[in-house]
Amino acid sequence: MTATVSFADLGLADPLLRAIAETGYTAPTPIQAQAIPQVLKGGDLLAAAQTGTGKTAGFTLPILHLLMQNTPALKKPGRPRCLIMTPTRELTAQVAESVQTYGKHTPLTSMVMFGGVNINPQISALRKPVDILVATPGRLLDHCGQKTVDLSGVEILVLDEADRMLDMGFIRDIRKVLALLPKQRQNLLFSATFSDEIRSLARGVLNNPGEVSVTPRNTATELVTQTVHLIEQHNKRDLISHIIRESGWHQVLVFTRTKHGANRLAEKLVKDGLTAAAIHGNKSQAARTRALAGFKDGKVAVLVATDIAARGLDIDQLPQVVNFELPNVPEDYVHRIGRTGRAGATGAAVSLVDSSEIKLLKGIERVIGKTIERRPVEGWTPPAGNSAATYERGERDEDNRQPRRQGAPRGGNRNGGGNAEHRPSRPGQGPRQTPAARGDRPANGHRPDRGQAQSPRSAEGNGRPSGRPAGAGRPAGSNRPAGAPRAALLGK
Ligand code: AMP
Repeated sequence: MTATVSFADLGLADPLLRAIAETGYTAPTPIQAQAIPQVLKGGDLLAAAQTGTGKTAGFTLPILHLLMQNTPALKKPGRPRCLIMTPTRELTAQVAESVQTYGKHTPLTSMVMFGGVNINPQISALRKPVDILVATPGRLLDHCGQKTVDLSGVEILVLDEADRMLDMGFIRDIRKVLALLPKQRQNLLFSATFSDEIRSLARGVLNNPGEVSVTPRNTATELVTQTVHLIEQHNKRDLISHIIRESGWHQVLVFTRTKHGANRLAEKLVKDGLTAAAIHGNKSQAARTRALAGFKDGKVAVLVATDIAARGLDIDQLPQVVNFELPNVPEDYVHRIGRTGRAGATGAAVSLVDSSEIKLLKGIERVIGKTIERRPVEGWTPPAGNSAATYERGERDEDNRQPRRQGAPRGGNRNGGGNAEHRPSRPGQGPRQTPAARGDRPANGHRPDRGQAQSPRSAEGNGRPSGRPAGAGRPAGSNRPAGAPRAALLGK
C-alpha cells in the first residue's frame, strides 16, 4: 500500500525530506501517504489513526511545510501559529520531539507545554517567537489566564488523540481553548475511535473535512502473538516475576489497572532481583521521565504502567507487553498490545486472567475477532488457588451468554475482513483449548470470592473504569520536564 508513494512524491520541502532521510524512514506509512497531501491542500482533516501508525509525522510534516511556505515578516513573541493539543505529558513531549526532529533543517521554532512542573521556564520561552506550540489543555489554559500566551495567531489547530482527551475529561478545557482561537484556521483531528462524542466534537470544530482512515484499527492484533495465562489475582505477582525471570525478557511493559497496583508490582519485581519501575499519574514528572528514560535505554527491564501513564508512549520495537489485569474496555486492550508489533515488527502480549476477568476476556475476543490461546506456564506451580474447573465453568457461562450479545454493536469482528476465526461456542471446540484440555492447572482450592482473590476492579484500589482513573481530569503539564533528556523521551 505504501510502496508506490515516496516522501518526495508527496511534495514536501527539501529541508523536511532531508530530516526524513536522516531518521531512516524509507517510505510514508499509510496514514502519512493519505494525510500529508490533504493537509498540504489546506483543508480540515478528520483522521482515524492511533499511536504506532506514524500519525505524528502525518500531521507534523505537512504543518512544517505549510508554515515554512508562509512565514510572516514579523513574528510576535508568545503567539504560536500552530497549536497541537494532546492528552498527556508524555505524548506532548513526544510530539514536540517529532516536531524538532522533522523540523531541524527549517527555521521554525517550537515549544512544549504541560503541567506538573514549574511554569516559569515556559513563561520565559513564550517571550520569544514560537511557531508551533505543543500543549496539554490544562496548562495551556493557565497560560491563557495569565496572558503569557496569545492564541489569536493560530493558523493550524491539531487535536491529537482526541478520544483520549475526551476520556480524560478535557472537553470543557478544549472548548475554552477553541473560543480563544481565530475563526479562520485549518483544523486537524486525530482519534483512534469515533464515538458519538468525538463525532459531535468534530462537527463543531472541523469545516467540511477530508477524512482519512488507516487500515482497520485492530490490525495490531494480527502482528502480535497473544496468549492468556489463567491465574488467580493474588498469584499474579509471583507468576509474572517467574515468567520474566525465566524468559529473560529485557524490555517488558506491564499494564496494571491502578496506580497502587503498579507500585506494588514494581516493588515485588525489584525484591525478586529484576530492574523495574512504576509509571503513573501520582509520580512526579521527574520520576516518570527517569523511569521512561531508564526503560528506553535498557537500564530498566520492566516498566509497570497504568493505561493513562502509558498512553502515547512511543517505544520502538517493544518486544513484550503484559496485561497484569485486563482493561475494562476491549479497545484499551488493542491499544495496549499495539505497543508491540509496530512498524512491521512482531511482538508478544501476555495476559494474566483471573476467573473474574473471563467476561472481559470474552469481550476482548469479540472485538479482535479471535480466540486468544490459553497456555499453561511451564515450571510454575501456584501455591494454591482455583481449580481448572472454575475457569472452565466461567468460560462456559460466558459462552452460553453469547447468543444474546451477538446483536450488540461491539460484537463480532472489527477487522472488517472476512478471515476472522469463528469463535467456538463451547470450550474445547476450534483452535482454543481449555485449561483442562491443555493440562493447565491455574490454581487449586481457593474460591474466587474468598480470601485475597478479588475482582480486578476492587483488587488494587480505585475500582474506576480504566479510561478514567482518579485524578486523570487534568494531567498537569510543562515545558520539557526539568532535566529530561529529549532523546530519551523519544527513544529514537
Ligand atoms: P506515531 O504513530 O506517530 O506514534 O509513530 C510511531 C512510530 O513510527 C514512531 O517511532 C515513528 O518514529 C515511526 N515512524 C513514523 N513514520 C515512519 C515511517 N514512514 N517509516 C518508519 N517508521 C516511521
